[in-house]
Amino acid sequence: MSEAIKLFIEDARAVSIEATAKILNLKFRASGSEHPQPCPNCGGTDTFAFNSKKEKWNCRAGGIGGNDGIGMAAHCEDLDVKRRDGFLEACSIVLGLPIPDEGERESDEDRAARLKRLDDRRLQNEADATAKAASQVDFREQERQKARGIYDAAARVGRYGRPVADYLMARGCGDVGALQWLRYASDLSYWHGQDGRGRPLELHCGPAMVAPFIDRELCAIGCHITWIDLKRPPKYRPVFSDPDTGELLPSKKMRGSKKGGLIPLFGDPQARRWVGGEGIENGAAFGAWEAFREDTFYFAAGDLGNLSGPAEPSSRFAHPTLKKLDAKGVARAVMVAGPIPKADQDADDAMWIGHQVDELVLLADGDSERVMTAAAMARARARHARPGRVIPIVWPRPGYDFSKMAAEADTGT
Ligand SMILES: [Zn+2]
Repeated sequence: MSEAIKLFIEDARAVSIEATAKILNLKFRASGSEHPQPCPNCGGTDTFAFNSKKEKWNCRAGGIGGNDGIGMAAHCEDLDVKRRDGFLEACSIVLGLPIPDEGERESDEDRAARLKRLDDRRLQNEADATAKAASQVDFREQERQKARGIYDAAARVGRYGRPVADYLMARGCGDVGALQWLRYASDLSYWHGQDGRGRPLELHCGPAMVAPFIDRELCAIGCHITWIDLKRPPKYRPVFSDPDTGELLPSKKMRGSKKGGLIPLFGDPQARRWVGGEGIENGAAFGAWEAFREDTFYFAAGDLGNLSGPAEPSSRFAHPTLKKLDAKGVARAVMVAGPIPKADQDADDAMWIGHQVDELVLLADGDSERVMTAAAMARARARHARPGRVIPIVWPRPGYDFSKMAAEADTGT
């Protein structure tokens, strides 16, 4: 490879995600650093996003992502970075320069000057990468501390914190009485976007249920917040929308880390029988239905990915009925993450399970897409399987989750 080409590539590596996004004419949201949108290559809605602060991009439709502008440009422009010509073309796009001619002759001085520039640039890129990695570690640790702070400041549910018990009762979880893990915050801020001066904007401040994410040592690594509004059935949660776009926002948030952790709901993690699924309400409603068995620990994974872990790419399969339009407007089957766990996973690619657990009851969500959920539950079972451990999967009535089933049973509808 000629020095000119090497320099060209090093220059391209230094172009940020934000600068690349501008060159590619991607959409920027008015506030925040996360910018979701349809993928320019795969289509869909909000399938693609880049984050100008974390220097990351991701396409859910294409199942691909990364942390540099070259890769992002290549995906958006449908170039194959594994091929030399595709890679150089992507570099050319992010730099806005033509690919240098390999056969180009150069003077000795030019050559020496360029070698020095190349060296400087490479050192600079390495220093930047080290600094970025360090600041990400800092950022993660800060987020963990903030999450612990939110959880520590929240009140235990018993004599105080009654709104959390009322919320769970309204969601079909019975009267839980005093709680060991879930807590109550009376005035928790919901931050969204930034004001004109770049400061975080408080969209709402009100009562919330706060749960910890705990690791195997039972230390809080993050927290899960559910804002509640007891006057707003059927979910008893406030409705938030983005002031600029009107887009609906979730009334739940996670802070800090969740990866590999779990949300404890009721009981002792030392128990040999564990019961849980994706959400808090679902696990709590199932627990109420079996009268919170003494021998059982109830948990929530927070989301399906943390329950089941990543899938082996080769086990991906086409959905039997669901289709979506590709970039050319042709209807193609939606691809579903398969039932086989990815080989060589990290310990924290999915939630931890106590080594002593010999019965792990997994609760499926009946109101999520059935095929995708079934594949994820099969994957969770395979991932958490051990000799001597049984892992039954329990399904609610189609179109329901256990919380909704219980809430309707309570009111007799
Ligand atoms: Zn894509």
